[in-house]
Amino acid sequence: MQVLYKSTRGTGEELTASQAILKGLAEDGGLFVPTSIPVLETSLEELSQKSYQEVAYEVMSRFLTDFTEEELKACISKAYDEKFDTREIAPLVQKGDAYYLELFHGATIAFKDMALSILPHLMTTAAKKNHAEKEIVILTATSGDTGKAAMAGFADVPGTRIIVFYPKNGVSPIQEKQMLTQKGANTYVVGITGNFDDAQTGVKKMFHDKALAEKLDQAGFQFSSANSINIGRLVPQVVYYVYAYASLLRQGQIQNKETINVVVPTGNFGNILAAYYAKQMGVPIGKFICASNENKVLYDFFCTGCYDRNREFMLTNSPSMDILISSNLERLIYRIAGNDAEKNRNLMENLAQKGHYEITEDMKAALGEFYGNYASEEETAEAIKNLYEKTGYVMDTHTAVASSVYEKYRKETGDTTKTVIASTASPFKFTRSVMNAIDGKFEAMGDFELVDELSRLAKRAVPKAIEEIRTAPILHNRIASVEEMPEVVLEILGSSK
Ligand SMILES: *Cc1c(COP(=O)(O)O)cnc(C)c1O
Repeated sequence: MQVLYKSTRGTGEELTASQAILKGLAEDGGLFVPTSIPVLETSLEELSQKSYQEVAYEVMSRFLTDFTEEELKACISKAYDEKFDTREIAPLVQKGDAYYLELFHGATIAFKDMALSILPHLMTTAAKKNHAEKEIVILTATSGDTGKAAMAGFADVPGTRIIVFYPKNGVSPIQEKQMLTQKGANTYVVGITGNFDDAQTGVKKMFHDKALAEKLDQAGFQFSSANSINIGRLVPQVVYYVYAYASLLRQGQIQNKETINVVVPTGNFGNILAAYYAKQMGVPIGKFICASNENKVLYDFFCTGCYDRNREFMLTNSPSMDILISSNLERLIYRIAGNDAEKNRNLMENLAQKGHYEITEDMKAALGEFYGNYASEEETAEAIKNLYEKTGYVMDTHTAVASSVYEKYRKETGDTTKTVIASTASPFKFTRSVMNAIDGKFEAMGDFELVDELSRLAKRAVPKAIEEIRTAPILHNRIASVEEMPEVVLEILGSSK
């Protein structure tokens, strides 16, 4: 069955998957959603005997129906190869009360690699299929991890350029060094004097800027996005939830058809939305436990039905979740509004103009599968220390937010359903925060000394992604205000490296 894509704010124009991937964001400002969510054709029991790449094909071919088998399989095999440091791609390990789905074994050691190692291949294939002749310019706002993962994926991919905007003072030292040392003649990094929401709003604005689009068109460029607003990011993320369930079956941890819960440390709501799509496809998931840090706008939303971004933006030790405008929530709002684009558009306009909106009682009733909570900075640090002392396993700060929220959920509900925690980054990416959580004595050490200390403590080799940046030269130094973003883009596109 053909799956088409339409905008959450639109009048119903339908695009093929490849067209939606190329565009990134709909012209009316909405996000593309599938007209219906396909179900799995192969049973989970059968899938439990398959490799990650095979599961990826089963899931993605259901969504991306205008890609041929040959095209999709080529994309998958180029994406999930030796760039990952384990053949399992996404191992599932049992620690304490939960199963940790390790999504950080790719090139940049955060879960963004799961989708961004395949997106460039999907996009160049889509461009070929649609005879797009313009050079594709990927504009990306990052809270720290997307930027590096997207550049690693797009570096030196012919016919593409990538420009990344990150909050200058809002990422970890390792995250910043990873980005500023990025190689590739088509990669550009810009530090923004603002927070992630400013960067993301600035990027979205450029997508709607008709005058800018015209200038670009004449110069032979077209914009697309590597953010999770692109359906080409979301679909590959559905794969690992299917794979996680299949892994539990394979390991004999659950019975066939047994319900599981998932906990996702959430920022832009892309990862947890992928889990929600996995359930629609047929994976028996009970609760979606949405974990926030001190930027707990989603927790408040699930409690009250009111989304309100009018609050102080907190800089935390889980910077990839420092977000107050959670873009992908729009896809869920659209759905619980009964796929009513106008109703959704009104709410999103409220958000843009007043900074808040409130959903109806009916819509609220449709959120029963979701549970929201948050972890403070202290609770996050405690979770890291406790799990380490109990099991020797060291998790990163984002995963620790999820772990801490999961403990709250268990205490509150007594629900002991088997639970998968999305482990979104390697502890090596947030070494300083992780080591400080374990013991105050590490405070005085340098960033790379800490890396070696963590390696000893966690009994894990230092990932290649970290070794590479130890001595790598800084290659980028652009800084701009949010207002200057369009100028910077034009300046970059007018130059060649
Ligand atoms: C991006 C990111 C998140 C948040 O994921 P969303 O899909 O934006 O909700 C959580 N943890 C890490 C490490 C990330 O990089």
